Amino acid sequence: MKKELFKKIPAVNDLLKSEYGKKLIKKYNHELVLKSIRTILDKKREIIAKTKTEKLNDLVINLEIKSLINEVNDYLVDYLKPNLEKVINGTGIIVHTNLGRSILSSDAINNLVNVAKNYSTLEINKKSGERGSRYENVRELLISLTVAEDGFVVNNNAAAVLLILDTFAKGKEVILSRGEMVEVGGSFRIPEVMEKSGAKLVEVGATNKVSIKDYESKINDNTGILLKVHTSNYKILGFTEEVKLKELVDLGEKYSIPVVEDLGSGIINDLSDLGLVDEPTVADKIKQGADLVSFSGDKLLGGPQVGIIAGKKAYINKLKNNPLTRALRVDKFTLSTLESTLKSYIKQKEREEIPTLKMISEKSDLIKNKTKRLKEKIINLCNDKYLLSINKGTSKVGGGAFPLQGIPTYVLKLKTKKSNLNTLGYKLRMNNPPIFTRLHDNSMIFDLRTIKDQEIPQIAKALKKAL
Ligand SMILES: *Cc1c(COP(=O)(O)O)cnc(C)c1O
Repeated sequence: MKKELFKKIPAVNDLLKSEYGKKLIKKYNHELVLKSIRTILDKKREIIAKTKTEKLNDLVINLEIKSLINEVNDYLVDYLKPNLEKVINGTGIIVHTNLGRSILSSDAINNLVNVAKNYSTLEINKKSGERGSRYENVRELLISLTVAEDGFVVNNNAAAVLLILDTFAKGKEVILSRGEMVEVGGSFRIPEVMEKSGAKLVEVGATNKVSIKDYESKINDNTGILLKVHTSNYKILGFTEEVKLKELVDLGEKYSIPVVEDLGSGIINDLSDLGLVDEPTVADKIKQGADLVSFSGDKLLGGPQVGIIAGKKAYINKLKNNPLTRALRVDKFTLSTLESTLKSYIKQKEREEIPTLKMISEKSDLIKNKTKRLKEKIINLCNDKYLLSINKGTSKVGGGAFPLQGIPTYVLKLKTKKSNLNTLGYKLRMNNPPIFTRLHDNSMIFDLRTIKDQEIPQIAKALKKAL
């Protein structure tokens, strides 16, 4: 009985040669059509195989060529929807690396669209009509905001560190404190980047303690860089001692060795009025005398993925002359969005205009109101299986910054049984648009700090469907 059904499944070629199949091949890539046909036919085989023999009579399965091709067509239409799509971030983690880190300001998006749609002044000097440098588009802005002599950008902060090591420490030694051997998000480890650049890591001190004498004792003729890495995603507490940048700068001057700090997140303006302390500004580091400082564009800066290097002109010039720069260079989309983001800081409107900073600084009263609005929209959905409440909670900055500090917030808590919760989580992730939340303590937590006003009805609708 099953055998007969299996036999009824047409061959791939039958589908391809059919009048409908031919139309499909005219519309879509041949290989993909072939693969999709196989996928659909495999699914049919699977359905038949899974059906118990005594239930075969009740099985409704359409194996006609026209119907199968229709299924292939639906599959292809679905395939052509963007894989990289908008999601609703209900986690309250503002710089969420897996959800795309920072989202951009309206100005940045407008500038991006304009540059994407048209030819642009990427590498041309309007006045002279001669060739210019793409980096000039943001250089002055970086200088103003970091108070450094010069500024430069590459693909991301990992690339910035690689370029710095390659330029000043290839075949040489780099002195770094053991307490600063960081790993960022599992894919960026200082010792590994060091190895790729051909620099030799010389570790000094113990994990919790290092002194300036430890550094000095390791300096020799082959020392290329004195490196500091801002341990933004963890903190060593208790019996600790670290060397201040200023001390290292003095040491670097004494031996003519560049002092570099990888700041990771890097902020332009202090955030301590929001209760977020311990994250130094880039200008602080420059004022303390660092020769080069590197940081990310899409973490707390709130712009596009980019690695920014600020520092002394002579050193930046050396970086620019390294052929690696060509391989790490940023494109026009990055430069256009970075420029707009930096200009929000120049206007001192970053907390209004840049979403990352706006979300970080949003007052919890406003979030409480948003939370109430979502609750009102879904209150009638709750029964004895689901319990709804508004609670105090903690948002996270994310992006590896402020690991120990949260931002007070209000959350909507949907309490239920664990099995229901997992299904609900799945349904929300598969919603259009997908919704990501935090699951904690048999509850689904919506932190409205990272949810836009216009997304509230979308969440309510998704929950209505899912519950
Ligand atoms: C995030 C981070 C990096 C990597 O930056 P990307 O922009 O993600 O390449 C490097 N160093 C530190 C200290 C970081 O926090």
